Amino acid sequence: ATPTALMVGIGRAATLGILIKGHDALEASGTITTVVLDKTGTLTTGRMTVETATPFGIADHELWRLAASVEQGSEHAIAHAIQDAARAHVTDLHPLEDFTALPGLGATARITGSTLLVGNADLLREHGIDLTPAAAALADAHEHGHTVALVARDGQLIGLLALADTIKPGAADAITALHAQNLTTVLLTGDSPAAGARIAAELGIERVHAGVAPAQKADVVRELQAAGEKVAMVGDGINDAIALATADLGLALVSGTDIALKAADIILVRDDLHVIPDAIAISRKTLRTIR
Ligand code: ADP
Ligand code: MG
Repeated sequence: ATPTALMVGIGRAATLGILIKGHDALEASGTITTVVLDKTGTLTTGRMTVETATPFGIADHELWRLAASVEQGSEHAIAHAIQDAARAHVTDLHPLEDFTALPGLGATARITGSTLLVGNADLLREHGIDLTPAAAALADAHEHGHTVALVARDGQLIGLLALADTIKPGAADAITALHAQNLTTVLLTGDSPAAGARIAAELGIERVHAGVAPAQKADVVRELQAAGEKVAMVGDGINDAIALATADLGLALVSGTDIALKAADIILVRDDLHVIPDAIAISRKTLRTIR
């Protein structure tokens, strides 16, 4: 290999907002066959909005107050959306005690002596909570591809909040460019199959793995590798760190967390998903020059 051609490739990438961490990363990105993309924060803006709120057996404002009180402890996009929306319904929140984030599921806390849970259906089922009252609201959320945050107090379902996620401008173009490079695309998300399917359909992504817990994201990468694929993983969060490190090539968005950046081989500084096909194109071109 000629070091000069490598330097040129890495330098050219840098001017486009693509930081390639050395020769191995460049080598790997020239041979990728499949690109796995995280949903929340990678393909979507990470800013969500609450579309509907359905209380079960409590007042509307009390559902908002309890849900937003728990979410004071969380940094998740869902938590931010619930707190923002709650401001239109309540002026003050309850103090938060014993908050625990449950990655891939939701969160729990004690509020004025009660145990609150806010999270997905798996979380509530794990706690043996009866979801029958939410059947119609769940079906509706499913149909719209909304993400649901269910709320329970002391083992009793008290509400459902349905949230929507916004696709980043340029995401569809980036996916089209990846397909033009003969790459297979896979959407990987901890979110529900309905929410995953909606985003994948809008972007033309071929395969979806939804409801994947953070610890299992790397397993999806390994399965693809076992099937003979050379896998690039694109992510932004703590959730994605192990999958980024497991992939043949890890690409992290710079808006992401420190740990995702450390686990990556390539850091995407430009706020435009077209950096993904650009990175692969530059690497392929550089490798052709070297060989
Ligand atoms: P992703 O980044 O792919 O959305 P996460 O692992 O961050 O995956 O979250 C997976 C799911 O866990 C979310 O879609 C949501 O259902 C649930 N969840 C996680 N944190 C929270 C929270 N603070 N409040 C409500 N639900 C949450
Ligand atoms: Mg994410």
